[in-house]
Amino acid sequence: MGCASSIHISDRVVYHSGKESEDSHSPQQTNTTQHQGNPASGLPLKPPSCKESGQKKIPSDSGHNRKEQQSGETTSGKTTLTEVQFGPMKLFKDPLQVLLVFAKEDSQSNGFCWACEKANYRCSMVRTPEYALECFSEKHHDLVIIDHRHSRHFDAEALCRSFRAVNSSENTVIVAVVKRPDREEASVMPLINAGFNRRYVENVNLMACYNELLQLEHGEVRAQFKLRASNAIFTALEQSQDAIEITSEDQVIQYVNPAYESIMGYQQGELVGKEIIEVPKSEKNKPDLLETINSCIRKGKEWQGIYYAKKKNGDNIQQNVKITPVIGQGGKIRHYVSINRPLNDNNKSDKSADRVQAESQTDIQSCKHKDRRKGSLDVKSITSRGSDASSQRRHSSMARIHSMTIEAPITKVINIINQAQESSPMPVAEALDRVLEILRTTELYSPQLGTKDEDPHTSDLVGGLMTDGLRRMSGNEYILATKQPHHLPSHLATPLSLNDIPPRIAQTMESEDSWDFDIFSLEAATMKRPLTFLGLKIFSRFGVCEFLNCPEATLRSWLQVIEANYHSSNSYHNSTHAADVLHATAYFLSKERVKQSLDPIDEVAALIAATVHDIDHPGRTNSFLCNAGSELAILYNDTAVLESHHAALAFQLTTRDDKSNIFKHIERNEYRSLRQAVIDMVLATEMTKHFEHVNKFVNSINKPLAALEENGGSSDEETVKSVLTSPENRILVKRMLIKCADISNPCRPLELCIEWAGRISEEYFAQTDEEKRQGLPVVMPVFDRNTCSIPKSQISFIDYFITDMFDAWDAFADLPNLMQHLDNNFKYWKGLDDRKLHTLRPPPE
Ligand code: AMP
Ligand code: ZN
Repeated sequence: MGCASSIHISDRVVYHSGKESEDSHSPQQTNTTQHQGNPASGLPLKPPSCKESGQKKIPSDSGHNRKEQQSGETTSGKTTLTEVQFGPMKLFKDPLQVLLVFAKEDSQSNGFCWACEKANYRCSMVRTPEYALECFSEKHHDLVIIDHRHSRHFDAEALCRSFRAVNSSENTVIVAVVKRPDREEASVMPLINAGFNRRYVENVNLMACYNELLQLEHGEVRAQFKLRASNAIFTALEQSQDAIEITSEDQVIQYVNPAYESIMGYQQGELVGKEIIEVPKSEKNKPDLLETINSCIRKGKEWQGIYYAKKKNGDNIQQNVKITPVIGQGGKIRHYVSINRPLNDNNKSDKSADRVQAESQTDIQSCKHKDRRKGSLDVKSITSRGSDASSQRRHSSMARIHSMTIEAPITKVINIINQAQESSPMPVAEALDRVLEILRTTELYSPQLGTKDEDPHTSDLVGGLMTDGLRRMSGNEYILATKQPHHLPSHLATPLSLNDIPPRIAQTMESEDSWDFDIFSLEAATMKRPLTFLGLKIFSRFGVCEFLNCPEATLRSWLQVIEANYHSSNSYHNSTHAADVLHATAYFLSKERVKQSLDPIDEVAALIAATVHDIDHPGRTNSFLCNAGSELAILYNDTAVLESHHAALAFQLTTRDDKSNIFKHIERNEYRSLRQAVIDMVLATEMTKHFEHVNKFVNSINKPLAALEENGGSSDEETVKSVLTSPENRILVKRMLIKCADISNPCRPLELCIEWAGRISEEYFAQTDEEKRQGLPVVMPVFDRNTCSIPKSQISFIDYFITDMFDAWDAFADLPNLMQHLDNNFKYWKGLDDRKLHTLRPPPE
């Protein structure tokens, strides 16, 4: 059954055209004589081919509608789609499908066959009304041409009525082929009443048939094609969670959507066709509000504000309302579209409204939509005078904001975009709307985890490292292991100076300038005091004492105090980690690009920041401290708790005792700059700001440098220098430097990388144990020592935090050895994971 594949002319189906014509733009046949008998004689009318493939572009429609263009071949290469613009929608149209209903083959039916083939339409021919309907119900043709000349074969008007009885024919164009009328004034009304769109007076001339088809395609058929797309728009309206009401220019209700019905308690049938005035009004609106709204929208302006509506059950409901006039016939306002969203506090009694609200909260798209609307309420013009008190307040505070002389850069940006939107075409304005939506969110740099990222290891790491106060829960107080700063334990034997460093330790530190330096050997050799020894050596290499004008003994004492305030009981956040970060920092500082960018004061700040950056770390994450309501979380308002503490404590410890005050001899202004730089770098290690720092670095440094490199030429050296050394960019370089040093363990040689992974995992496990013990929320459930896959957690950590950051840092500082290690290490973890192993190392053979 079906009409797609028949080849021969039968009672059922004739053929499908689609053969490529030589030149579809200029018909070869320009014969103007009427071919009454056999139109095929001497003409390129071939027995029809039934190939469906090989559709070619239809004749050019240039000049017909500038927005409607031919698009290229589809990927299958079989069908050429035509692009059709419908308002802001871009549609693609398949080649036309034509159904010819002719009881007998004659020159007229052949003429249309030929014309279809020439125009590359898909064409089916049937002989009887039954087959016509059957074929139509299968293919839903765009155009049906019915032979109306011979009533003895079938009743064409009855057939047309039958077509119209089928729902899907609503947008089908049906043409009647009629005999040349005896009287010119013969009425077309019977045809129109039967459901025909058009009459074609028999004319077998091939060009006449062809031209008729082209006119139909570009006229009526295309209009119907666009109308069909309104199904999508109606679907959007029906699905919307906002209550939507459309009225005519004289405020007769034309449409309400299901959300409107459920919020207001009316059925569509009770409202459609009624004037708005007939619907009971709420007495809660200020008396002149309706007048204000009307005077605004009648001028063609949008009105937005707060409005009370009365529901069918008599309850009042406060809504955020936006009414937009829509221009229609005659260039006049023909509709008003009102979009209404109940305000939370006023619909407590309304279950359905609550439901709509709740649903919209769970839907990311509608939340975004809601935010955008809220945003546009805040910033864009509120066109009403807003007789409602809150709207008045809002309006005046907006006026204040606009008249403020001190403008934040983001406000300037938003204002510039708003202005640009006013003179932009619709697609640009809409794109800018989306830009504004993004700009108005505070988390500009934090990627949102999409479904593809919803690996529990990633989401736990992200949740655990990138949130703090948000997860705060009141609960047991976490007592910091170290409540008072540690003073230097006197019994510790300390090196007197660099020259006094025991040979075994000195030897261990010989390769300290290599990236592959083994910090754990130094940890062992120094009995867990690697920071003091490595600090002495590295600070000396960089001439820190000279810069600070401080005796080496002060530096030594300072290093000892700092190291003593790291918790050796932490498996990861102990002084070995600080020494490791110091090592990485020194390594990065010796890279050419970094040297070009930074001043000596920046280098000294970076070394100090690395040394102190995790001081007094309790071995628990910020989220944990916030959840536990720890003293520190309270002190720092659940915000960058640990990082704030590290920076603050470092300065307290440094300045409280002259003996270890390395800043004692520097000038006040220099101290202030140094202090500012150290604080900024320590705070930059906070993971909630990870993507912000990386993105800023890429945008302000990587991208401009790459662009300059592409242009090449020595004339750009100055520009390169200015990018590298501008004060803003030096800050970004320093932040990126300490961040990369802080989490560089996945870029260390494999053995070191494995050791670090083991240490951080153990620290996380200990936190989970304690959370369970204390009944606190478990911040990172995947880090449960009984179930955790360490390889998976490392893969997630590398994927999410490390790869992009080190790509950017490598592009800047040129670190091929680190990237090689990263690659190897990643493969190592992948290898274990592929073998479904959860451990740090494979079991012994
Ligand atoms: P910091 O606390 O300053 O060392 O910040 C770095 C963050 O990255 C810490 O929260 C660490 O827990 C986390 N981190 C570092 N290395 C790893 C790793 N290999 N796997 C998972 N998390 C890590
Ligand atoms: Zn750290």
